Amino acid sequence: MPNRMLKFLDLGSRSPDKRGAETRRRDFDEIYQEYDPAAAAAQAARCSQCGIPFCQVHCPVQNNIPDWLMLTAEGRLEEAYELSQATNNFPEICGRICPQDRLCEGNCVIELAGHGTVTIGAVERYITEIAWQRGWVKPVKPRRERERSVGIIGAGPGGLAAAEELRRKGYQVHVYDRYDRVGGLLVYGIPNFKLEKDVVERRAGLLRESGVSFHLECEVGRQVTIEELRQRHDAVLIATGVYKARAIKIPGAGLNGIFPALDYLIAANRKGLGDRVPAFDDGSLDAKDKNVVVIGGGDTAMDCVRTAVRQGASSVKCLYRRDRQNMPGSQREVAHAEEEGVEFLWLSAPEAFLGNGRIQAVRALRMHLGIPDATGRQTPQVIEGSSFTIDCDTAIEALGFDPEDLAGLFDTDALTVTRWGTIKIDFRTQMTSMDGVFAAGDIVRGASLVVWAIRDGRDAAEEIHRYITAKEAARDRPAAQAVA
Ligand SMILES: Cc1cc2nc3c(=O)[nH]c(=O)nc-3n(C[C@H](O)[C@H](O)[C@H](O)COP(=O)(O)OP(=O)(O)OC[C@H]3O[C@@H](n4cnc5c(N)ncnc54)[C@H](O)[C@@H]3O)c2cc1C
Ligand code: SF4
Repeated sequence: MPNRMLKFLDLGSRSPDKRGAETRRRDFDEIYQEYDPAAAAAQAARCSQCGIPFCQVHCPVQNNIPDWLMLTAEGRLEEAYELSQATNNFPEICGRICPQDRLCEGNCVIELAGHGTVTIGAVERYITEIAWQRGWVKPVKPRRERERSVGIIGAGPGGLAAAEELRRKGYQVHVYDRYDRVGGLLVYGIPNFKLEKDVVERRAGLLRESGVSFHLECEVGRQVTIEELRQRHDAVLIATGVYKARAIKIPGAGLNGIFPALDYLIAANRKGLGDRVPAFDDGSLDAKDKNVVVIGGGDTAMDCVRTAVRQGASSVKCLYRRDRQNMPGSQREVAHAEEEGVEFLWLSAPEAFLGNGRIQAVRALRMHLGIPDATGRQTPQVIEGSSFTIDCDTAIEALGFDPEDLAGLFDTDALTVTRWGTIKIDFRTQMTSMDGVFAAGDIVRGASLVVWAIRDGRDAAEEIHRYITAKEAARDRPAAQAVA
């Protein structure tokens, strides 16, 4: 558990600013607190029930937050749960891993007034966990079964949310995934200390009980073609996420001991799940007793540094070319990482990896922020002659992800992609350039968030339903006209 980990790490002694550390420590505890009924009610009662619920507006699934907070404050937990799950397929997951400081909580009026946000995510998690404990979370039972079927490529949050919504409408749902487990990045990307794997497995079990069929270790484009899926099903949803790691092209990039972030995190997650991971067991992907440098400033970089701390790294440094205010990752995550002893080297960019066969150091350059570019973001610029060296045994590249070449993998010219390689869709219908083929989640948006993938999956399910029923109506119309 994170709190135990903090005690173990004796964080107070690492920080020169003891009072600041104490304050941040309280924040950290708050985020990971498992509420008891009294604490949850007290927290929920802090909601001012303001007229304009900015929290709801900034929640991608538009959760009815003020109302379920009020029900929680009144102890009406089953109603609170019913309301919260009406807009979100996996509230206990979002409660754990949404970057609430950028979404609901960051826009809470109490926070904006300077009194500290209502901890919406922690309450959401609490009421859903209570719902699981008390048997209120039930498999979907459609009012009527339909013969029509939908094939979903990808068992990440986007595909799973769509699968549940389509089952609710009575469709026969088949989910295909190249991995051996259900969950996509929920299982293999996001570390266990942020999202326990049994929480994802519990949802996968519920979907199976709801009648969703999973075809695992089945890569579309290799084991089965997209054309075959179009023949098998009345509609197809592509929810394959983005997985092509951006690499750093600098001297020494080929040295041993340099890894893409996802290789590192997948190994850690697989190990946590009890799998045999040779590259971890031989020490390559294990940070224990190593000096680790992580390059990047997003949430994936934060997951890497915090995983390395938990594996017992001797030191963990994070190199980012902009400053703290301009990093893409959540400020909350950075605060956690600092609490855990990670050292941030802001305004620093790698110039070369140094070593003899194996990495021994990263040579970096100091940067300053220049004038804003077309997007309004200040461009980092090198400070000449500012080169410095950081010794390390392992370097992890966490520079973000691009889409794989899906049209190539699916061997079709019919699937139109954007210049970034994401799938182009009609935003009113979520349909791709292929008739009856829809897309949702990161493969449309680029690397994004779980809660956005859920939202897209839900919207895609609606559109697929509309498409299939319109086709049925068109098919039935000539027959009806002939009878008339
Ligand atoms: C390290 C890391 C940490 C993150 N942390 C957070 C966080 O804390 N909070 C948050 O909100 N978001 C986080 N994200 C982002 C979040 O995980 C994604 O936005 C979200 O999972 C996208 O969902 P998805 O369903 O579109 O795709 P994914 O979750 O990527 O799932 C896609 C699935 O498709 C499968 N697939 C791909 N190609 C094929 C194929 N050809 N055939 C069959 N199956 C295929 C994959 O195996 C995978 O299971 C994180 C991302 C990473 C990488
Ligand atoms: S789904 Fe995410 S953004 Fe919405 S209320 Fe829950 S934690 Fe906040």
